[in-house]
Amino acid sequence: MKKILVTGATGQVGSELKVLAPRYSQLDWVFADRSVLDLSDFKAISKVLYEIQPQIIINCAAYTAVDKAETETELADILNHQAVAVLAQWTTANDCQLLHLSTDYVFDGNSSTPLTEAAATGPINTYGQTKLAGEQACLRENPNAIIIRTSWVYSAFGANFVKTMCKLMQEQEHLNVVNDQIGSPTYAADLAQAIVTIVTHPKWQAGMYHFSNAGEISWYEFVLAIQEIGGFNCQITGIPSADYPTPARRPKYSLLDKSKIATTFGVQVPEYRESLAKCMALIRVNSRN
Ligand code: NDP
Repeated sequence: MKKILVTGATGQVGSELKVLAPRYSQLDWVFADRSVLDLSDFKAISKVLYEIQPQIIINCAAYTAVDKAETETELADILNHQAVAVLAQWTTANDCQLLHLSTDYVFDGNSSTPLTEAAATGPINTYGQTKLAGEQACLRENPNAIIIRTSWVYSAFGANFVKTMCKLMQEQEHLNVVNDQIGSPTYAADLAQAIVTIVTHPKWQAGMYHFSNAGEISWYEFVLAIQEIGGFNCQITGIPSADYPTPARRPKYSLLDKSKIATTFGVQVPEYRESLAKCMALIRVNSRN
């Protein structure tokens, strides 16, 4: 039985993998949160990995606070870049497979067609720069690694855009939401399923892959969908990003092309609206308990 280690086990994707794990009992799952494996402590990484002896690592740990990364640059780089290099080195030296996660924010946003894995990168914020450096270090130190870039991740676990919008729409009569950043959201449960499909696939096929839900929308349209599914009575106005300044710039267009992951591994790419409805039903149930 292959031993599979999930880092960042308390995060959105880590938590969704924990939900799926019992259905994949052919794998010996180990979930490590920060208290077990602190990725900012490089010496501890090798020690803990040596003790666990995983045959597959899924790296769900990251510094994900996009705006804070503009000021906490060093910490973002340690987690998103330097620690990834250490993990990748260990996996190469110990015959371990590595699946790492990255982001649509490695792109500059100037494309107007869905981004394939071969599209030129050019991050416009610190988070994206550190994640790109992490991708490069990962493939340099372990050319056999798989990297999945994803975008706009939400789930019933942890703090995220969908939960924040549900709360705000219940509290406020009016919300402004940017309508000039285009992409597709990702339900972390669908991404977790994609990851499991890949690690249980008979053939490990190294390289870069893109995954998000299907659909092409702005954040404004995403909020309209959240409003409709949730039945919230709140007026939503679309505004340009220029009217909503944030510490980190965001790409205007970061829609990922998912054909490669679908054809290589047979990964399903559910429609964003279907997945949003599933997640919101779960959020509603959880809020009653
Ligand atoms: P979360 O922010 O939900 O989870 C990140 C995890 O990293 C948490 O479990 C956190 O632990 C852990 N972590 C932070 N610092 C450390 C540390 N020093 N040592 C060990 N663990 C640490 O992220 P997601 O699940 O949403 O994201 C998963 C991946 O997807 C990441 O690589 C991210 O960059 C990428 N991604 C995410 C997007 C998003 O919108 N969220 C969009 C695009 C890509 P703790 O709970 O203790 O803080």
